[in-house]
Amino acid sequence: RAKSEGRGTYRFFEAKMGAQVRERRLLEHDMRHAIARGEMYLVYQPQTDVATGAVTGFEVLLRWRHPERGSVSPAVFIPIAEESGIILQIGEWVLREACREAASWPNPLSVAVNVSAVQILTPHFVQLVHEVLFQTGLKSERLEVEITETALIRDPSRAQSNLRQLKALGVRIAMDDFGTGYSSLSNLRTYPFDKIKIDSSFIRAVDANDQTAAIVRSVLGLGRGLGLPVLAEGVESEEELRFLASEQCQAAQGYLMGRPGAIGLFSQHTHGRKDERDTSEMAA
Ligand code: C2E
Ligand code: MG
Ligand code: MG
Ligand code: MG
Repeated sequence: RAKSEGRGTYRFFEAKMGAQVRERRLLEHDMRHAIARGEMYLVYQPQTDVATGAVTGFEVLLRWRHPERGSVSPAVFIPIAEESGIILQIGEWVLREACREAASWPNPLSVAVNVSAVQILTPHFVQLVHEVLFQTGLKSERLEVEITETALIRDPSRAQSNLRQLKALGVRIAMDDFGTGYSSLSNLRTYPFDKIKIDSSFIRAVDANDQTAAIVRSVLGLGRGLGLPVLAEGVESEEELRFLASEQCQAAQGYLMGRPGAIGLFSQHTHGRKDERDTSEMAA
């Protein structure tokens, strides 16, 4: 009896796995046409100076409105795009759109673009960035590239060489999701980072938990020691922001300062006038 039950469980998992694989293939297939069909679009989330509250720039976040499924989370489709290689096409589109948009903003405002490991490691990535900056007229100092440490472990020497060339163009490089995944302090010394973004999971628990506060303080100390500004991700409450201010954290980003939204929503920052439309993403 146990044996047949075991086999049933196995069949169940097998069927479930099959369904997951099919699901991924379907998404992958649909994604190949998503840009051409206008289903992908960008939203922008403000990044602010903690001491003054001023908006210093925006992070670009990709969205996919699927014709039947509705909006698909980047946490779902980005990994599929990475595995299938479609991320190269999508990533190039994101970079171009973001730089074209940012070129119309007043000069000090910067744009932060997420770049996948697959993209960073392509031989022509630096050339592509150079070309896009030239074509859009965006000054390289106003572009920031956000990468996670996962991007570095696959091919450290290629990553190092591409990042150095990128930096030589004047583009800034931020380490995204610091403190999660494959974090290693030596990465801060090996690669030419200009900024550390502390992952939102540390910010979320900060006032409730002494250990978390100690971790955030030590990342801030690390940033000071290395001369790298630190940005706190996922700031949702006044208490979190007060804590960050009291610890001299330089920059912040999160729902408290602004949800990701259509850029028109932030036009008081980007074009010096107020726009009443509110199309930002509401809490689910
Ligand atoms: P990320 O780069 O770490 O982006 C921050 C994520 O946190 C975004 O999720 C953002 O919407 C969310 N967020 C911002 N503030 C808050 C807050 O106060 N509370 C909470 N709970 N969440 C907040 P999103 O847009 O779903 O993106 C998820 C991830 O997908 C990103 O993480 C990034 O790794 C990836 N991604 C998004 N757009 C792109 C893209 O154009 N290219 C690549 N390669 N990856 C992208
Ligand atoms: Mg990011
Ligand atoms: Mg992040
Ligand atoms: Mg992330």
